[in-house]
Amino acid sequence: MKRILIVEDERDIADLIGFNLERAGFETIKSYDGVEGTKVALRERPDLILLDLMLPGRDGYSVFRELRRDPRTASTPVIILTAKAQTSDRIQGLEAGADDYLTKPFSPKELILRVQAVLKRSDRPPGVVEFTYGPFRFDKNSMKFYLDNEPVELTSIEFKFLLFLCERAGKTQDRNELLCIIWGYSDATQSRTLDTHVKRLRQKLGLRESWLETVRGIGYRVVNHEA
Ligand code: CA
Repeated sequence: MKRILIVEDERDIADLIGFNLERAGFETIKSYDGVEGTKVALRERPDLILLDLMLPGRDGYSVFRELRRDPRTASTPVIILTAKAQTSDRIQGLEAGADDYLTKPFSPKELILRVQAVLKRSDRPPGVVEFTYGPFRFDKNSMKFYLDNEPVELTSIEFKFLLFLCERAGKTQDRNELLCIIWGYSDATQSRTLDTHVKRLRQKLGLRESWLETVRGIGYRVVNHEA
């Protein structure tokens, strides 16, 4: 049975969501503020989190960022709940890597459909070796790369390069070492190869292109600009 954490301070809404989810066969856990909700998420490791944005204690965005940073919940699907219907909020929520977005008031039917869709998308066969960094997800077995849960075609060298940087996020990797480790070159004469690959890779990262940083005169690093 899939367990869903509901982080929502309006108790009548939390109860209504809980009632409908349980009726649809889910187990639910409820939390009524941001600080407690974060603790419960990290401790209980639910299969999915419904997260309200306007919360006492700690707002939903801050909760969400911590959940994405912590390896225990980094790949847990999150559906953002909000009363605000403005487009800018929607974009902000999705850019921060939420799996979906529900604007209040929503019907129980819509809620269940969204929850089922997100769970289905995130259901992965056991034994899959993955590495997740923010909105980046690497399936090491199949060498498939996902950005915000959408597959992005990377060449095997791009995959290895980006994974290498993400596993060492925040730390600058020396150009020559990268050429040696990733490309297998014994010297730096192929330096331009690296620039070409980085340029192409940035295009594939779209809105996240700035996450792949050039450190002038040294090399490259990946930095989470949403943390
Ligand atoms: Ca609220």
